[in-house]
Amino acid sequence: MTTTSSWRTLRNVQARARLEKALPAIFPAPVLQHALARPLIPPTPRLAVESYWRNHILRADRLARALAARSGTPEGWTWQIGGAGRAGSFRLPPAPFRDPAFARGRGACCICGQPVYRFGWHRDLWAGGAPNTKAGWHAACVAAWKFWIAPHAQVRALKLRQRHRCATSGKRLLRTAEVDHTLPLYRVWREHRDAPWPDLLGYWGAPNLQVVNRAAHVDKCRDEAAERSRTVQLARFRVVEDASGFSVVEEE
Ligand SMILES: [Zn+2]
Repeated sequence: MTTTSSWRTLRNVQARARLEKALPAIFPAPVLQHALARPLIPPTPRLAVESYWRNHILRADRLARALAARSGTPEGWTWQIGGAGRAGSFRLPPAPFRDPAFARGRGACCICGQPVYRFGWHRDLWAGGAPNTKAGWHAACVAAWKFWIAPHAQVRALKLRQRHRCATSGKRLLRTAEVDHTLPLYRVWREHRDAPWPDLLGYWGAPNLQVVNRAAHVDKCRDEAAERSRTVQLARFRVVEDASGFSVVEEE
């Protein structure tokens, strides 16, 4: 046995013991199954839930959008850019429940607006009746949010979904393939900003994402940039964390 594998075996024995000790009587079975099959077993229920959604990103994306659909567009809310509690860029998915004017308070997810239960779960498996007032978001919604603002980090899952074929040329995807918004986000802002909020999220999620080979992507970006430069100055963006540890996009 190599040093690495004996280190890992020992670490996993300890992690599994810690996890099982902390596990409540009721815990989502697929999450536990996933945790125990990881090369490095997550040592707490919370980390197990996070790992589950990070590794099932398309499911997290679908779930977050389904939960948002359950909340619907808050009365009186419209997608606007800039100002207190709002994103400064059309590149960031609109999040009405992060706006103080529409926030539902602790125990409700600031991404989808629905109640949050133990371990950031979206259903009350424990039949406690009340949401977890210490929680401000679902584990699934956090994973989805990260995916929406930085989809390239999940290029493997997106490539697999396309059976490793380029979405534009149909050729085999190369290692340098890139994630692209089928309908560019500036056009979502320009043409669809009045769509119901839960539908808007789909433009950041899997329905509007495709993986294309670099050559095809460069052509598409050039065409889009030429079109955009007529009305908007191109800006550069970076992903940072704000004061509450929330990932946001900032202009550079
Ligand atoms: Zn949520």
